[in-house]
Amino acid sequence: CSGGGLLMYSDSSPSKRTLTADGQEIKKKKVVVLGSGWSGYSFLSHFNNPNYDVQVVSPRNFFLFTPLLPSVTNGTVEARSIVEPIRGLMRKKGFEYTEAECVKIDPSNKKIHCKSKDSTSLKGTTEFDMDYDILVIAVGAKPNTFNTPGVEEHAHFLKEADDALKIRRSVINCFERASLPDLTEEERKKILHFVVVGGGPTGVEFSAELHDFLVEDVAKIYPKVQEFTRITLLEAGDHILNMFDKRITAFAEEKFQRDGIDLKTKSMVVGVTADEISTKERGSGEVVSEPYGMVVWSTGIGSRPVIKDFMQQIGQGQRRVLATDEWLRVEGCDSVYALGDTATINQRRVMEDIAAIFGKADKGETGTLNKKEFKSVVKDICQRYPQVELYLKKKKLRNIANLLKSANGDNTELSIETFKQALSEVDTQMKNLPATAQVASQQGKYLAKCFNKMEKCENKPEGPLRFRGEGRHRFQPFRYRHFGSFAPLGREQTAAELPGDWVSIGHSSQWLWYSVYASKLVSWRTRSLVVSDWVRRFIFGRDSSS
Ligand code: FAD
Ligand code: MG
Ligand code: MG
Ligand code: MG
Ligand code: MG
Repeated sequence: CSGGGLLMYSDSSPSKRTLTADGQEIKKKKVVVLGSGWSGYSFLSHFNNPNYDVQVVSPRNFFLFTPLLPSVTNGTVEARSIVEPIRGLMRKKGFEYTEAECVKIDPSNKKIHCKSKDSTSLKGTTEFDMDYDILVIAVGAKPNTFNTPGVEEHAHFLKEADDALKIRRSVINCFERASLPDLTEEERKKILHFVVVGGGPTGVEFSAELHDFLVEDVAKIYPKVQEFTRITLLEAGDHILNMFDKRITAFAEEKFQRDGIDLKTKSMVVGVTADEISTKERGSGEVVSEPYGMVVWSTGIGSRPVIKDFMQQIGQGQRRVLATDEWLRVEGCDSVYALGDTATINQRRVMEDIAAIFGKADKGETGTLNKKEFKSVVKDICQRYPQVELYLKKKKLRNIANLLKSANGDNTELSIETFKQALSEVDTQMKNLPATAQVASQQGKYLAKCFNKMEKCENKPEGPLRFRGEGRHRFQPFRYRHFGSFAPLGREQTAAELPGDWVSIGHSSQWLWYSVYASKLVSWRTRSLVVSDWVRRFIFGRDSSS
């Protein structure tokens, strides 16, 4: 025990030792996983390699099903129903779990420094170090305030289960306060003015849920003050839901208008005080302040402090988001992987590698590619550079061979110039993957599968074709498969955008949304809880106690 009331201990054994059948000692590598959210939980559920010791560190001993978090804010779904304790998974898989937050990563000594809330120690925290052989960073991101003054102090975020419960209590409190006697009309209007900042999927869904609550429940519970309620949705850009198909954006904007939600686009929030929120109109530059009762802030995400510090240490200080390669290995650092919202894949450009690709394929070193040589690279190019597929789709070409044929005409040999020219515009289709649960969970599963076959790959390192810098790796790079996006718009209506340019809006997609998410909930326990919440709300309405 060290001074200052701080309990310090060090878990300095990076790897446990086990004996094989013939008494030989095998050293197990220790994998430390930070985080129990979408990417971390997915990694842990798919991890099946007994040759590793797995240690999980997360301040939260449960997984949270975030897509249903907005429904918790108005009591459609209970918070308990969308969390899955991770202890069960830990026991089943034989993993260790420590409830703590990692506050410092020290990659040169392969150590992390952690803090846990501990009400028994004098300082209220316990600190300790932990060694790792392999580190998997899955800590997600934090809400981004863009340093707007007053936001941290006065606005609500919607990121964790606690946030949703606080919002719920706050909404009900606003109604109780507005129902007190002897208030002026102005005062009631102020208290019942709900402001949502950010027209992304979360802000829009929250506004819709709040509106449903006002129309379906408040009218019955607080009939006297209902006329004073107002919802304002502020968005700095030209449109809400701008990552969706234009048809969905248009539908959502019209629906909000009809519903009486005050939608203000091109309005950037410049400050929040205890009573007022100030916005600056794009164009006129005019600053307007309005009184409010409650503000919910949902304008996107930023890196956590521990990640910013880590990026400084490994030479990524200039970047906004932690970068990995396509195998999810953190760039500039050994044995560290990063998944989910915390990182982005630094996608390679075809044009940067084009000479190397050509050289690899040109086995006879003739300076041109014949049909056979050409075929040998095509598949790898599509695998390695996802932008190729997007480009082909845009040009309505079936495959890359067609693209090259159109550039090369009747020639049987392909020169490097033609090769370059044909692929010259492919990189314009490069896109970062969105910060979604879909991406995070696929990355977790992908990385777990790589670990599951680690020995096989290390023993047989010959990959199909090895590009520059790839070393002995022969795992396929991570590829994302998009299954579609949903934007619940309230009153049992949902917009769905599915692969293949398929857009559907209305009641039918609400049921699609219910079933997709009900089937994606991690366990039968949570599934049945959520379904019974939906049924309960359907029959009895929402609970309005705070
Ligand atoms: P998270 O799921 O946030 O997990 C991070 C984990 O790390 C948590 O367990 C956290 O406690 C832990 N942690 C934090 N700091 C530390 C630390 N210092 N040390 C150790 N552990 C730490 N996506 C969709 O695809 N569809 C949707 O419908 C959808 N709806 C959403 C609705 C809301 C309200 C929100 C907030 C998000 C929604 N998302 C949705 C986005 C989705 O939730 C995220 O993209 C996803 O959670 C990212 O997963 P992650 O593992 O990177 O981070
Ligand atoms: Mg996670
Ligand atoms: Mg989560
Ligand atoms: Mg990411
Ligand atoms: Mg040749």
